[in-house]
Amino acid sequence: MYNVRCAMCNCVCGELALTEGKCTQFVHCFDSMAETEREKRMKLSELAANAALKQELSEIMQKHTLPHAVMIDGAAGTGKRTLANILAGYCVCTAAEQKPCGQCSGCMKAQKQIHPDIIIADGEETGALSIDAVRRMRSSAYIVANEAPMKVFLLLNCDKMQIPAQNALLKILEEPPENVQFIMTVRSASAMLPTIRSRVRVFSLFPAGVQEAVQVVQKRLADKTEEEILHAAEVCDGNIGRMLQMLESGGEQASLLAEQMLTAIMQSAEYPLLTLAGQLNSRNLAVSVLDCLTELAAESVRASVGLAVSSAAAAAMAERYSLKRIMKLAETIQDARNLLNTNVNLNLFGTWLCAVLRTQ
Ligand SMILES: [Zn+2]
Repeated sequence: MYNVRCAMCNCVCGELALTEGKCTQFVHCFDSMAETEREKRMKLSELAANAALKQELSEIMQKHTLPHAVMIDGAAGTGKRTLANILAGYCVCTAAEQKPCGQCSGCMKAQKQIHPDIIIADGEETGALSIDAVRRMRSSAYIVANEAPMKVFLLLNCDKMQIPAQNALLKILEEPPENVQFIMTVRSASAMLPTIRSRVRVFSLFPAGVQEAVQVVQKRLADKTEEEILHAAEVCDGNIGRMLQMLESGGEQASLLAEQMLTAIMQSAEYPLLTLAGQLNSRNLAVSVLDCLTELAAESVRASVGLAVSSAAAAAMAERYSLKRIMKLAETIQDARNLLNTNVNLNLFGTWLCAVLRTQ
């Protein structure tokens, strides 16, 4: 029995397997949703906080002036995917006005992720944003859309896109075919080449304030107490995605531990970090902590380039360490994360991790 809610339809369906927070049969759930609920999911109001951006996008949609290539940047959990889906829906909606309407066949297919004119490539999947994949996209971009007014390329998680692949993408962005829309999501726009950034319109998302985040999460997780939700909001500094993840997976411990470890890395004494690493007593916990540390390092990079971030430890690191040093640390964390996929001895791993994190 799964008691985790589907991120797509919010159901708690015991029979459904869950992948990345979505039940695998969300299509069914979506069909059984009330019309008003479907419509709501394609409205900008689904996004928390970011009032100025929502106002700006609402005007852009009304005037039909969405630039042909947009990049949505923001930390994990700030709603990049939600916004990307809304924009994709807007592009394929066939209603006369008020796009996306949430009711037409274009909107329905977009929501179910079965629209033939929305091509989704997720950088988290091996090879999805490789140079070959981008070249194939380029050929496909010149083929006219099947049923929508335009063809949409949804490039998710572009953070690790290699330079050759970015350059291939740049070629399409420089001479875009007609009626093609590119929507990218990335944790930090600084991960992309400046030449790409100059060709796209960047929309930045920021976490909600603690109070707003509590209200949003309370509606999603009725079984959690106000105290639990408030605590998560404070730890995650209003990042709704991270709060949901923490509260639903019991990941609170991992998140706290990662934040404490990041602070300990900056301390001159070795002991605090050793003690914290000693708490990594299960592989699952170690994986969660390293994933949180990866996220914190990315936050720190964002802080280094002057962007607002939610983690105090990440902000402190950005003040003390050079960008180069933080990038190096992020690489080390990634290496450690990869090591956990092998049959490594956890006791030795903790000690080794302390040593490599402190020699940065
Ligand atoms: Zn529609």
